[in-house]
Amino acid sequence: MASGETKVMKYEPVIGLEVHIELNTKTKMFCRCNADYFGKEPNTSTCPVCLGLPGALPFINQQAIEDCIKIGLALNCSINEKSYFERKNYFYPDLAKGFQTSQLVLPIAIGGWIEVEDAQGKLTKIRINRAHQEEDTGKLTHRDGQTFIDYNRSSVPLVEVVTEPDFTDTFQIKDYAKKLQQIFRYLDVSNADMERGDMRLEANISVRPVGQTTLPNYRVELKNINSFRFMAQAVEYEIARQIEAHEKGEKLVQETRGWNEDKRVTYVQRSKEEAHDYRYFPEPDLPILKMSATLINEMTKAVDTAKEKDPVKVAEKLVSTGMSLASGASIARNPIKLAIFNEVQKEKSVLDMDWKDFGNFIANREINEENINLVPELTKKQLSDFQSRKSGLISNSKELEALAQEVIDENPGMVDIYKSGKTTVVMALVGGVMGKSGGKADPGKVKAILERLLG
Ligand code: ADP
Ligand code: MG
Ligand code: ZN
Repeated sequence: MASGETKVMKYEPVIGLEVHIELNTKTKMFCRCNADYFGKEPNTSTCPVCLGLPGALPFINQQAIEDCIKIGLALNCSINEKSYFERKNYFYPDLAKGFQTSQLVLPIAIGGWIEVEDAQGKLTKIRINRAHQEEDTGKLTHRDGQTFIDYNRSSVPLVEVVTEPDFTDTFQIKDYAKKLQQIFRYLDVSNADMERGDMRLEANISVRPVGQTTLPNYRVELKNINSFRFMAQAVEYEIARQIEAHEKGEKLVQETRGWNEDKRVTYVQRSKEEAHDYRYFPEPDLPILKMSATLINEMTKAVDTAKEKDPVKVAEKLVSTGMSLASGASIARNPIKLAIFNEVQKEKSVLDMDWKDFGNFIANREINEENINLVPELTKKQLSDFQSRKSGLISNSKELEALAQEVIDENPGMVDIYKSGKTTVVMALVGGVMGKSGGKADPGKVKAILERLLG
């Protein structure tokens, strides 16, 4: 560095995420109450266990454990052979027991990874620290100076997925959230709807000088932010605030912050001094979980089958039939269109089908029907529309060539432009041929013919 130049320190963010997912099991985590609390009359889905009444004994929901194992496997984690529940003690009316049943020492799944994309499209491996099983709390509503409590949500199965602090920007966070959501949906373990609170995100953020390899000795936890947009804004704000504090030589401290939507700033919710000591200890009323090899094999198979439903995988498969990436992605997202396409693929009578053309055709159709039972009928209609459109097309290339030559002769100006190197002008000529044919030409074919004639 030249003398006299001031040294500019560069900082980079270090971000770790905690995601809570509410499972879509029929019953709650440790009792048989209905777990679907949405829109229900408050406190109608409760029992002595989920109300934490003295002497009530919990038992474990097998489906929830299997779902948690699947989540772990889909995130490339190892499943602990032995796992157990612990009491996370705290006093707050949203959990009547005085503790949350959770896992700390031996969670169900540990040590996985997932790849996420940054703004430049570069893939980064994010390490997954663990996926553990726990339970949701009741819901407090504050209104007119009073607080209301609904225990219908209390003890609904919740899985927490914790990453290592491997994120460096909000684009990666967004990609991670999107990918997790897809995984939960294709595994069919959760609706993973952020607005409904099925999936909740917490971000831990610190900032360090570029080049430093150790973790900063503080982290700021952003909590209770229930929309993805606000979370991204809060993270951006926090990165800027922390860099500024570092530059001013201020000391940053461990704390929990929330997001003020109106002022667009983060604010302190809890400092380290007020942090809880949860005094985790093993839950004496629940047995230790032992994962048999048979169970893990079964779950691995289930995950592999479910992965076939991953929209990204489905789109890749569709594109391999020749259709465009946009068409593949669009069909993969639409269950009815996908079912129609698959249905036609099964038919032997259309073996000589132009799949590329048909895929693009289906992708661009308006199909608003959502009833999967109607697929056979819809398929027949789409197929006959496609075939009648195709048979109406001019298939004789001599005929098309003649039309193309006409258009070329009538547009010497455009031909000059084309020959000067601005080859995109060919699309205008394609338009000319389409017009002459009364819309009965295949634009792709016409373009190829024009390019050949123009040399
Ligand atoms: P807690 O229950 O206290 O929130 P967890 O272990 O559940 O602790 O989560 C800690 C989260 O904080 C993890 O996602 C981890 O990657 C992240 N983290 C740890 N150290 C840092 C740091 N210096 N900067 C940013 N994130 C961090
Ligand atoms: Mg945590
Ligand atoms: Zn109950």
